[in-house]
Parts: sequence; structure tokens; C-alpha cells
Amino acid sequence: MVELRRTVVIKLDLPEGADESLRGTVDQFKHCANAASEWCWHGDDGYHVTSKAKAEQTLYADLKDETDLTANLVQKGIRRAVEAVKSGVSRLKNGGQTSRPTFSKPSVVYDKRSATFNEDHATLSTVDGRIHAEYILPDDLEGTPHRRYLLNDDYEPRMATLQYDADADEWFLHISLRSYDGDDTETGSSTEHTTVLGVDLGIDTIAATSTGKMWSGGYLNHRREQYQRVRGSLQRRGTQSAHRTIESIGGRETRWADDYLHCISKALVQEADAYDCDAIAFEELTHIRDQMPKAKKFHAWAFRRLYEYVEYKAEEYGINVVRINPAYTSQQCSKCGTTLEENRPNGDHRFECQKCGYAVHADYNAAKNIAMKHVRRRQKSIGGRPRVNVALKSGTVNANGRYSSTV
Ligand SMILES: [Zn+2]
Repeated sequence: MVELRRTVVIKLDLPEGADESLRGTVDQFKHCANAASEWCWHGDDGYHVTSKAKAEQTLYADLKDETDLTANLVQKGIRRAVEAVKSGVSRLKNGGQTSRPTFSKPSVVYDKRSATFNEDHATLSTVDGRIHAEYILPDDLEGTPHRRYLLNDDYEPRMATLQYDADADEWFLHISLRSYDGDDTETGSSTEHTTVLGVDLGIDTIAATSTGKMWSGGYLNHRREQYQRVRGSLQRRGTQSAHRTIESIGGRETRWADDYLHCISKALVQEADAYDCDAIAFEELTHIRDQMPKAKKFHAWAFRRLYEYVEYKAEEYGINVVRINPAYTSQQCSKCGTTLEENRPNGDHRFECQKCGYAVHADYNAAKNIAMKHVRRRQKSIGGRPRVNVALKSGTVNANGRYSSTV
């Protein structure tokens, strides 16, 4: 099948402050590329390093620490340098002359994990989080590349280069599109990897991720109990003013819990973004009352809210939010797959596999299972070799259990 590639160049209309965020992003991206080029050129043994994997393995963690870029942009910076070193090496092989590649042009490479490409705007990951950039388009689109490719369902945006034109003092997005052949399983996308973040919801730990992050529910529960005590004593008083106070407490309570859930949802989406995930997997909320006998109406409300907030924020990042059936995710060992009730001996937060001895926080184990269930489902639907992964603390694991380290 013939694959067509097209590039559409679009001038951007940025919100206030975005210019500075993009400049910061450009600087840090160049820093990653230059640092990588320096390390790759002549390597540590006199040979130029042209392996992306090798460069990433050595450089990623430090550059991630040194910058405010997402994992994806750090990787893109390293890869850009490796590509340049590679072409330098082939020039040398052909008898040409060249020196270490340096990066001074103000540009950043984006893909669908660090950007979303829409019909009239793009969102771009920056050192200050995502920004929303409107496209500046001619009034009459007829015959423009924008109409022919970007608004054409036969083409799919794959990546883009953000470039700053200093003379014009304008930002441009060069969006690369590929003709879409409707068969995503056997084409170039086989090298594209999908990574999913699993999230387990609970009462003691309100949310736990497959990357090992947790948010305590204790604070939420404690505050709620406090409110309930005050409300109880006011109800016993039963006066008119006590009634009014109860109403205002109700409002304050939801607002407070709402803010807290907002923060968690934001952190969850950022966690997914930091690990380059394109999906976040939650458990199906309808199962919560059966799964958690201790759960109150309040928790069902809180989980639903959290899910909605995550769904809303994730959209901006181009991350899908999916729900999976949580059956056995708390009893199954995320390491060896053994499902036993005895893996949860005390009903507390400890998980201990009776077969392989794997012992971790139960919610972390469940979050990994939730992600893995989604991975298996996706794998089945796309067929072929595994390219859907679970995001873990220090790498990913695919449906065959193969582990890849990112740090
Ligand atoms: Zn096990």
C-alpha cells in the first residue's frame, strides 16, 4: 500500500504567556539535543553512538531531572541528536567531512503524545504544562493545504515541528500527515507503542497508579467525618439557624471534596503524560458497591467525580480514559498471574502472592492488573505482536510480560 506524507505549515495564535512557555520549551529541548549530541559524538570509546536505545538509557534520567520537559519531549530531544549523529556518520563514511551536530534553531519535535492536532487548534506540551494554540487560517480555505490534508479524513496527523521565525516574531507548526489506509494493524504504526496507566480506586487510598503513585483517602474521610459530627449535633438542636448552618456545611463539604478530587485528577493526568501514556484505565464504577462493602454513597459520588475530572482533563492531552471490569484485580498477582483469595490474607492493604511471594501494596498491585486487563483487551483487538504496554515505576511491561526499562 502506498503511503503518502504531507506537511502543512500553520501560523499559530497564542494565548497570553504562551510565548514565554514555548521559548522555555525550545531552550530545554535544544539543551537535551545538544547534551545528547555531545555524548554520542565520539562516545566514550571514540566511536559515534548511533543507537537511540543506548543514548536514551544513558541520558534520559539526568535530562529528565535537569529539565521541566515531559518524558516524551526529553526522548524526542535525544532522538533528534542521534538522528543527526547518524547522518554525520554516513557523511564520514562517504568520504565527506563533518563535525559534531549542534542545535541552535528554535524548534521542538512533537508527536501525538506531546500534542493534539485538531481542526482549528493544537495543544502543545511545554515547560509550563499544555498550551492551547489556535491556527491562523485564511478566510477561504478552498484549495489550501489545510483543507486538502488537515481537514481530510484520508490523512492522519502523525507529528509536528514547532518553529519560531525570529524575523517575523511568529510561531509556526509544521504538521506532518500520513495518508490513512484504514488498516492500522499491518502498517507503519506497528512501531508505535501504546502505553496505559492503570488506576485503582479505594477508600483508604483513594487512587493508586500502576506507576506506584498513591493518594490517601484518609484526609477526605477524616474531613467528612468531622462535617458529619457537626451536622449531627446541629440536627439534634433542630433550630431554624441550625438548619441554615447544615445547608451551608453541605455546600462547603462538597466544594472542599471537589477541590481535592480536582487536584488528584490533575495529578493523575500529569502522571499519565509524564509516562507517555495514551490511555488511563479505571475500573468500572458500577462494581464499586459490591467490591467495597465499606464504601458509602459518598465514595460512589467521589469516584464518579474523579473519573469525570480525569476524563475531562485527559482529553486536552489526547489521552483516552477507559473502564475495565475489575473482577479479581485485587486477588490476582500482577507478577505471576496467580489468583487466590489468600493473596489478601488480612483484608488490609498488603498483597502477598502465595505462589511467588510477591509482596506489595494491594492497591498498587490492583492498579497494575487493571492496566494489564486493558492491555490484553487492546492486544486482542489489534492482533499481532505486543505493542501495548503497562506503565510501571521504571519502565513498561507488555501483554507477554516482557519488561522494558525507561530509566
Ligand atoms: Zn505471584
